[in-house]
Amino acid sequence: MHDDRKLIEERVQRALRERIVPVLHGDAVPLTAEVWHTPDEPVPPAEALAASYEPAPIGTPWGPRWGTAWFRFSGEVPAEWAGRQVEAVIDLGFSGGPGFSAEGLIHTASGVPLKGLHPRQMSAPLSILGPDGGPAKAGDRVEFYVEAAANPEVLGPRGFRPTELGVKPEPGSPPIYALTRADLAVFNAEVWELMVDLEALDGLQRELPEREPRRREILRALSRALEVLDYEDVPGAAAAARAELTEVLGRPAHASAHRLSAVGHAHIDSAWLWPLRETRRKVARTVSNVATLAQEWPELVFAFSQAQQHAWVRDNYPAVWERLKKAVAAGNIVPVGGMWVESDTNLPGGEALARQFVHGKRFFLDEYGIDTQEVWLPDSFGYTAALPQLVKLSGSKWFLTQKISWNQENRFPHHTFWWEGLDGSRVFTHFPPIDTYNSDLSGRELAHAQRNFSENGLATRSLVPFGWGDGGGGPTREFIATARRVADLEGSPRVAIEAPSAFFSAADEEYAAAAPVWSGELYLEIHRATYTSQAKTKQGNRRSEHLLREAELWAATAVAHGKLRPEDYPYDELDRLWKVVLLHQFHDILPGSSIAWVHREAEATYAEVARDLQAIISRAQSALAAEGTGTHEIAFNAAPHERDGVPALGARPAAAAGEAARVDGNVLDNGLLRITVDERGLVTSLYDVRADREVVAPGKVANLLQLHVDTPNMWDAWDVDPHYRNNVRDLTEADSVALSVEDGVATAVVTRSFGRSVVTQTLRLRPGARRLDVECAMDWHESEKFLKVAFPLDVHADRSASETQFGHIFRPTHQNTSWDAAKFEIAAHRWLHVGEPGYGVAVVNDSTYGHDVTRDTHDGGGTVTTVRLSLIRAPRFPDPQTDQGRHVVNYAIVPGAEIGDAVREGYRINLPQRVVAGGVPEIEPIVALDNDAVVVEAVKLADDRSGDVVVRLYESRGGRARATLTAGFGVTAAEEVDLLERRLADRETDGRTVSFELRPFQILTLRLKR
Ligand SMILES: [Zn+2]
Repeated sequence: MHDDRKLIEERVQRALRERIVPVLHGDAVPLTAEVWHTPDEPVPPAEALAASYEPAPIGTPWGPRWGTAWFRFSGEVPAEWAGRQVEAVIDLGFSGGPGFSAEGLIHTASGVPLKGLHPRQMSAPLSILGPDGGPAKAGDRVEFYVEAAANPEVLGPRGFRPTELGVKPEPGSPPIYALTRADLAVFNAEVWELMVDLEALDGLQRELPEREPRRREILRALSRALEVLDYEDVPGAAAAARAELTEVLGRPAHASAHRLSAVGHAHIDSAWLWPLRETRRKVARTVSNVATLAQEWPELVFAFSQAQQHAWVRDNYPAVWERLKKAVAAGNIVPVGGMWVESDTNLPGGEALARQFVHGKRFFLDEYGIDTQEVWLPDSFGYTAALPQLVKLSGSKWFLTQKISWNQENRFPHHTFWWEGLDGSRVFTHFPPIDTYNSDLSGRELAHAQRNFSENGLATRSLVPFGWGDGGGGPTREFIATARRVADLEGSPRVAIEAPSAFFSAADEEYAAAAPVWSGELYLEIHRATYTSQAKTKQGNRRSEHLLREAELWAATAVAHGKLRPEDYPYDELDRLWKVVLLHQFHDILPGSSIAWVHREAEATYAEVARDLQAIISRAQSALAAEGTGTHEIAFNAAPHERDGVPALGARPAAAAGEAARVDGNVLDNGLLRITVDERGLVTSLYDVRADREVVAPGKVANLLQLHVDTPNMWDAWDVDPHYRNNVRDLTEADSVALSVEDGVATAVVTRSFGRSVVTQTLRLRPGARRLDVECAMDWHESEKFLKVAFPLDVHADRSASETQFGHIFRPTHQNTSWDAAKFEIAAHRWLHVGEPGYGVAVVNDSTYGHDVTRDTHDGGGTVTTVRLSLIRAPRFPDPQTDQGRHVVNYAIVPGAEIGDAVREGYRINLPQRVVAGGVPEIEPIVALDNDAVVVEAVKLADDRSGDVVVRLYESRGGRARATLTAGFGVTAAEEVDLLERRLADRETDGRTVSFELRPFQILTLRLKR
């Protein structure tokens, strides 16, 4: 037998492309089209329906980029089409893929949203085109509207090139799309079924071993089907062609075939290459699609994550919300994730990450009565080791992502495993081996999942999320029809459409006892620049998190001390502000990978958040400080440790803190630290007086700015590639260096110009301080550069400790293995620490997250450990103006620091004291702890508005801790609760105190009844 495989494959593809797809719709009549161009931002349907429309013949241009056009389509269904399947076919002039260009939402004549339109879904069935979304029939006149969004393809075929598409254009900008088709047409269902048959079988056979009988059998069947397919009458011949395929489609799967739980999905980035306001519309389009699809295909199960997106539907689209609730009740739509958004997990602070679960899970409980069990984060850029404990404390048990398949260096060894967090908590975790969250269920992808599954031989099942996504869209009927064909088909894995919980339950039962364990963070070996890009977004997040802490703490303290009425606690305001901050932790906003529009808007939003939180803080502090006699300047200390004589979480006059600093020639000295600044403004010596130890490595200089050329191969805002290290310029020349002393603070101000930028660093040594503070003001106008500041330390450290949520993790400073080498850029929150037994050094910061730590040897023998903070970048895609302009960040170096000192200084630099003049000399802390290793992360009133005080604390040093909490108010009962403040256990109290023991990094949430 001669090999004619390629000929048949090519024949199938050409037949699909040129003979079959073009006749999916047959007889057609044009619809009458009219259009109204919205003048600016989107408007509600009522306003659009009342507008005056003008004729819009085919070819009518519409939409400056980011503009909106409303089309009114009307026409009569020909009476002679009675009994035939009729659809409206609308082509808005799409250019990109679903969810990325020219998106439409069909509305009824009275403005009720019905169904989305995108390039892979241009039709709407007659069954929803009647009045009020009901069925229409032959002979009826139909009228409906389409809200068309002129979303441009920001990441188009040109790839990662600088583009201005990410901002709104000037008024009067030209249209970017044109109406291309608007018809009522007969849908040739049998031709469509033939298309799905051919695609499924052709896709399957291409993945089978070349000489396997099954492959040849399918090829011959495909060949026979095309032989009977009369190209001059494809609709008439489709049934006969399909008959040739019946037998090969009827053969059951192998007994050992892999099992895939197929879950309908639409990845909807809450903002990315589009602004937040567009996502609200994307969500409405996708939910409408899914609800309409489920009417016809009841087996559809669609996983819908991100409570925020559900809330947008509820708040903006009442009719879609009703459909959503019905679909959830029917099981067609399944809320998943249990988080407010699919957030980044490297960067959000501990309390914020906890609140992602609180607000996400609570929304699903309140609105649907569903306690979600699976955490759904398919696309975030690495996963913190704090997550397993938070997942468990939120009451969930499973975790899903697929992003680690993007690793550039190392293949992750497992697909189903126990993931162990930094405190030892474990969650059952799955990475879909299909390596995508937007599967098309093609033969290629299904075969890849089966072959790729690491647990083959031990476990039998994996999950596949299918449907159009990133910008939404979701499944279409083709996906479900394909799933039916591969449910039980020889040569294919078995595919069953089911909910994620069905997959996890079955996988858990099958494999939980034997599954391997991965301990620690799930570091993503790509997108490492997301710790640094869009500095103002990151700073806004950091500020907001700490302001939220202060606002809750002082408002709760004021209530507990009887200075504010319980009903005056700003519950609604805090709820709203938290949700704004949580939304901006979405995995393309906080990481800095969105278009300019998103980040400029975020900057303004963070400013409003700060203003509102400052107001809450001021109100509470005034209430606490005002009454009494005399005038006292009291310092509020929101940090979890005593400082300058002010107890943690309390207020009193700050005590003068030690020996004044002085300047001696070029040395700043406060009796604890002696810092030598040379004529170039570089720190040549950092001498720790108490330890009698030089901290700067021999022959090196510290606080050295280093400017790298930063040209990643792709994903500019996301990536820093290892080659950035090869091109570096040390910024050693100074415009000016000035040393001075004022109020006991020794200061060196150093200004450096380079390129088109200027950096002014103010080094401050304060009385009694064991740290050198640096305020770094940058006027940054570079392009494709990466600015770091280096501290080469005379410390022999094999590993660095980075603060993460509720603890810290260690990472190697060497590059022994490919896993170690891949971590050439790492995220840390407020501090990073390196040390050898008996001596360590911490670097703390108030704004940034990116760091790197490297090791070297010096000639005299010994190790140089260089810690660098990543200050700022300048990628050009997707925001060509990324980080241009002025920035101020603060950081400090803390010689002689243990981990506990790093924790304390990290809080301190992020929570400056607030001095308030008032009538009382002192404010007692709302709660006090007798062990510095135990850190209070949040104090607030309970969300149920009972007036109970909720305290979340954790063991911060990685050891065991016994502690007693003393309340500043009478405690009638104490409970241990979960993150959602649900009771886990009673705790003993004597009316004031609660004692407990914590394991390393354990989080404990206490509810104290007053
Ligand atoms: Zn995403």
